[in-house]
Amino acid sequence: MKPYDFKKVMQWLGHILKCPICGHKYNLGTTQVIESRQDEVYQDAEILIHSDCSKCKSSVMFNVEIRGPEVFSVGVVTDLTGSDSSKFRNRQPISADEVLSIHETLKSFKGNLLEELTKK
Ligand SMILES: [Zn+2]
Repeated sequence: MKPYDFKKVMQWLGHILKCPICGHKYNLGTTQVIESRQDEVYQDAEILIHSDCSKCKSSVMFNVEIRGPEVFSVGVVTDLTGSDSSKFRNRQPISADEVLSIHETLKSFKGNLLEELTKK
């Protein structure tokens, strides 16, 4: 079997994917593929898509699995923008120790927090 043409898959998805919040149909301009994987032997593919709704401004990530003729889709509402999704996808989750550490630091912090956080 030929590998999936993700451009065509995206065009097709653009026709069927709707915003789960307001029901508005997505346009491809505000939809981006975050990650894709396909297996030619088992004829399956998995695509992670981020979409911004142009009507209600909510963001949703869709995990679309294609297994032969069957398509499974799961959407999750997110506050990440498209570029956030790419930026954070390979990061490790924050640990409990890191949360405690920042809590301890902020308890006694005196100064300009915004300045500290945006310092390079
Ligand atoms: Zn919407």
